[in-house]
Amino acid sequence: MPFSQNTNVRPRILIVGGGYLGFITAKKLLAGLNQGEGSVTVVDPNPYMTYQPFLPEVAAGSIEARHALVPLRRHLKGADIITGKVTSIDHANRTVNVDPELGDDFTLEYDHIVMAAGSVPRALPIPGLAEEGIGFKTIEEAVTLRDHVLARLDEAAVLTDPEERKRALTFVFVGGGFAGIEAIAEIQDMVKDAIKHYTRLSPEDPRFVLVEAMSRVMPEVSEEQAKWVVASLRERGVDVYLDTQLKSCENKHIVLSTGEEFDADTIVWNAGVKANPVLVDSDLPIDDRGRLMVGTDLRVRDDDGNVVEGAWGAGDNAAVPDVTGMGPGGFCVPNAQHALRHAPVLASNILTVIRGGGELKQYKHKTIGSVAGLGVGKGVAQVGKFGLRGLPAWMMHRGYHAYAMPTFERKARILGNWAVGLMFGRDASALMDLESPRHAFVDAANSKPAPKKEPKGEPAKS
Ligand SMILES: Cc1cc2nc3c(=O)[nH]c(=O)nc-3n(C[C@H](O)[C@H](O)[C@H](O)COP(=O)(O)OP(=O)(O)OC[C@H]3O[C@@H](n4cnc5c(N)ncnc54)[C@H](O)[C@@H]3O)c2cc1C
Repeated sequence: MPFSQNTNVRPRILIVGGGYLGFITAKKLLAGLNQGEGSVTVVDPNPYMTYQPFLPEVAAGSIEARHALVPLRRHLKGADIITGKVTSIDHANRTVNVDPELGDDFTLEYDHIVMAAGSVPRALPIPGLAEEGIGFKTIEEAVTLRDHVLARLDEAAVLTDPEERKRALTFVFVGGGFAGIEAIAEIQDMVKDAIKHYTRLSPEDPRFVLVEAMSRVMPEVSEEQAKWVVASLRERGVDVYLDTQLKSCENKHIVLSTGEEFDADTIVWNAGVKANPVLVDSDLPIDDRGRLMVGTDLRVRDDDGNVVEGAWGAGDNAAVPDVTGMGPGGFCVPNAQHALRHAPVLASNILTVIRGGGELKQYKHKTIGSVAGLGVGKGVAQVGKFGLRGLPAWMMHRGYHAYAMPTFERKARILGNWAVGLMFGRDASALMDLESPRHAFVDAANSKPAPKKEPKGEPAKS
């Protein structure tokens, strides 16, 4: 049964995914639509957009987790926000099935659909990975990882068995792309700071291991910059394994393709992404990598290149042609830099079509470059042929992301975090009981009452 939508205003524009692309597209549509000209509905399992480039700084305690998010309801006034997961798409009948967090599934009708469901980790069938690994794509993962890593320091500080202690203090990161390098570098930097406060641990105790299947890291920067990143990580004490694969991690026992074996309590998987698999449960055309097929006007195209009316897409879940010739295979790489620029093209073209047609914008963007934070005061950047390293690159990284973070209110919170951090250092405090916060109350409720004491003698009379 169709869900009763809270607007009858047509056309109904449904945005699947309120992430970076979906959020900015919705904002631009809301700003561009005249009264009664159309309605915007955003469906996302989360009531917030996550600015993923800040996840490494969240995991490292430089940014408060909630500040890396943009609450959809507060910042998309006029849109219908539905917290739920789209599980299938029937474009022939212009409906999607939505699975809300609580309650029964329902059907949502639309006139135009914008696929902005992003990507998911590309996990491989490695024994033990699904059981022992953690991804690095959501705010919950970043927060959990920070707490988990800091809790391992507390645990190791009181462990007496050297093998158990070694295992607690071994942190394995698989994947040397942008996100993987930023994650290991930021977290290692946090641990280096935090360990100064432990009298029972020394700075040499933690072991950070980076495993990368290719012969280099960070394909987004030049070969020379990538070599510098590896050298600087090694100088910081990180064990970098190139041309190496994780073969198994059953029961947290790591086996590498080099034959080396060791135990590690922390295994972070960052080895690439693939288009959101919800597209497989749709009648929309996808390519052999599961990406939505779109043209440069960001309208969906079928196998013969014909426009699929009423269907749009971009960002990580789509194969957007890169007409500059810079993208691998002729398509835009899945990154925020493209998503940020896809959104205004999408919104403008949707408005043109619903107003009866006209010339559509064609997406074209020459990658400006890349910036990455590698810990406080450390970074690497590539702008065209120019490479920057260390403090200037880090300042560029922070400057760019402060600009790219949506909304003035969230930018202000982030800048506030950074200012406080520069004065007092990062906040390396772990929240220990987030998964079972009722423990303390249950223990108190079940605790033994104090034994009753017999009164001694007669009370004194006044
Ligand atoms: C750790 C990390 C660091 C990064 N750093 C950089 C960087 O420095 N520079 C850069 O350019 N890029 C970076 N990226 C990549 C960048 O964040 C993404 O390319 C960008 O967010 C893509 O935007 P999107 O809207 O397509 O997808 P997303 O922002 O991922 O949004 C997808 C949305 O869809 C929602 N969704 C998922 N499934 C469903 C469903 N079934 N139904 C409804 N909604 C659904 C999700 O909850 C999410 O809100 C980084 C990514 C990560 C993980």
